[in-house]
Amino acid sequence: MPQSEEPELRIQYYPEVEQLSLFDLYTQLQRSLPPGLTPQQQQQLLPQQHRIVTNSSSRLRNLRDSDQSNLYCIDCKSNLADHASLTYGIFICGECAEQQIEIMGPHGTFIKPLFKNSNLGNAQWDEYQLKFMERGGNYQFRKFMLYYRIRCKESTKRYCHKAAQYYSKALRAQIDGVHLPIKPPTKGFTLEESSFFISRGIDPENFFPQDQEQSNKGNDEQMMDISQE
Ligand SMILES: [Zn+2]
Repeated sequence: MPQSEEPELRIQYYPEVEQLSLFDLYTQLQRSLPPGLTPQQQQQLLPQQHRIVTNSSSRLRNLRDSDQSNLYCIDCKSNLADHASLTYGIFICGECAEQQIEIMGPHGTFIKPLFKNSNLGNAQWDEYQLKFMERGGNYQFRKFMLYYRIRCKESTKRYCHKAAQYYSKALRAQIDGVHLPIKPPTKGFTLEESSFFISRGIDPENFFPQDQEQSNKGNDEQMMDISQE
């Protein structure tokens, strides 16, 4: 089980160092298209993985409906999931997705409606976007967060937690087929402590030196699979 023991090792909370956020990636793709083209011509110019997939609705419906944990919103658990946060690979309802955008900002979470356009985005998916939902899913995210003792019924603030930030990066690295140059965060600080520090731009690990001595109890290897591509 990897532990971040080197004091200089820092989790980057935002992807400015090694990658654009998904939101910015798609904004740039759109901007890179020359003006005056028909939607069809635009599609031809885009890399294959960023061309709109015509059967995305049925693929997403299948992903959502075939797994009980994806069917309902990961946050409120009462509404049917009709949106996704690609950043975390999770199925979520529109209301909770809006809250997530409020907390994370539009660059911090990339929300898309699953089946039909909404005020949060359009329901046109490409192959690259679909991979986030195929490789991710509510069960996996929930399990990862539970490893850090962060329960999903805690508010959407948990998406600011460094464990969630790490998960998001690990998921993306796996999809991009690149090595993630950071290790999973250590356990030992609470959600409240973590988000308090992060909101002030401080790495909580530097404030809890005893974290370094805490060992991961139990066999959680499976939960960390996503980090081991
Ligand atoms: Zn919800």
